This record gives sequence, C-alpha cells and structure tokens, in this order.
Amino acid sequence: MKSYVVGNWKLNFTVGEASIYLHKLMRKIPNYRDLEVIVAPSTIALQPLSLQVDRHKIKLAAQNAFYRDYGAFTGETSFSQLRGIVDYAIIGHSERRYIFGERDKDIQKKVAGAIRNRITPILCIGETESERAFGETRDVIRDQLIGGLSEVSDDEIEKVIIAYEPVWAISSTKMKKLAMPEEVAEVTGLIKEILKEIYGGKVVEKVPILFGGSVNASNVGAYLTVPGVNGVLVGGASLILGEFNDIIEIAKRVRK
Ligand code: PEP
Repeated sequence: MKSYVVGNWKLNFTVGEASIYLHKLMRKIPNYRDLEVIVAPSTIALQPLSLQVDRHKIKLAAQNAFYRDYGAFTGETSFSQLRGIVDYAIIGHSERRYIFGERDKDIQKKVAGAIRNRITPILCIGETESERAFGETRDVIRDQLIGGLSEVSDDEIEKVIIAYEPVWAISSTKMKKLAMPEEVAEVTGLIKEILKEIYGGKVVEKVPILFGGSVNASNVGAYLTVPGVNGVLVGGASLILGEFNDIIEIAKRVRK
C-alpha cells in the first residue's frame, strides 16, 4: 500500500503565499511513486493551484465541501464544483465537528458526495479528551466510523482513507498532549476490526489509515512505525516548508 503525507493548511496563507509555497515544495521533492504527498489549502486557492501543481508530485485536497451538488446553499462549495480540481477532500475534521457543528449525518453525505464526484474522502475521526477520560474512546470511534461510512458500499470502501485524529492531540487544542504510539496502535487496530465487521477481511489491507495530532519532523518516524498506520495528517507543522519537507523525507525512508 502507498504511504501518505497530508498537509492541512487550515485557514492560513493568502492565494499568493500558497502558490509560492507550492512552487518551492515542488522544487524540493521528486516524484515519489509509493508516497502520496497531499496539501489542503483554503478553498479559494484550490482552482489556481490546480493549474500550477504537478500532480505527479503533489495532489490537492479540499478541507471541506458541501454534499449537495448545486442549489440554494448560500456560501457553500460543492464536491461537483471541485471535481477535477482536487483529488482528495478532508471530511469530518474535528474543527468542522466542534466549531461548525457538523454531525455524522452531515459527514456521511459529504463522504458520499466526494465519492460520487471522484474525489477520495479522508474521513477524520477521533475522541475528545473528556471522552477518553470517561473510557468512551472505543464507542466514539465506532460511532464516527460507522456513521461516516454509512452511505459507502462494499465497492466504494476502497476509495476511502481514514484519519485517526484524537482531538486532544491536535496542536491548536489548549490541553494538547502527544498521543503515545501504543494509544494510536490500539485505535488503528479497532478501526480495522470495525472495517472488517462491516466490509469483510479483505478490505482491511486496502483502506489506508492515517494518524494526525501534532505530528512534526521529530515524531513522524515513531508514528509511521505504528502497526496499521499508513501515513500522517499534519496541521501546524505543514505550514513550515522546511519541516514539511523533512516529514516527507522521513516518511519516504521509514516506509520504504
Ligand atoms: C489537524 O488539524 O488535522 C492536525 C493534525 O493538526 P496539528 O498537526 O497541528 O495537530
């Protein structure tokens, strides 16, 4: 299976800054055949960057989109509008869930909307600090995974990427703590169990699982050697070009 390094730029960079970053990153990295490098700029930058990007080296992801293809939905951008512009879309990020109130019933339609428009969804799931403290991690992961995938058929599941992002480990969270590799392994094991229950054993080796939560150049090697982890979703550290490039190079070495 391929490995993945995804940079989530969140609400950062003007279109000009994003373009300069992309230009510099393309100069730094070769065409890795077995490592997918993906960046997720703001929606406004996606179209111009899609004309600039060398898709052999880097793919673009949306950070979010709306599940209906068109209609009276002021302020939204649809997956159908992003079709051909991005290859991936981050869906159900914890900032979407907890700041913008997205629920599993929205997220499942977004996952389906992305697949319908030939965009690979990166479905983010993860427990909050208090859910973990109350011993609810397994239930939350199960609910978010089953909820997010409920419109995905047996034929479509191989078009989905799962990202495990414990909310308490995300760098912008006040109480941020680093996830221990054993904690990550436990949840990736659980994700595989649930996928197996729903879609059968063969699928488990075909659905990539990423880890996200304060990943940087110093800890990426440890996370990428956790059993069941196929890549990383990087927020803060992806904004620093040199560090993101280091993460990519480490990922390439670790997952040879
Ligand atoms: C994220 O927001 O997806 C993320 C993983 O952020 P950070 O790497 O900054 O914790």
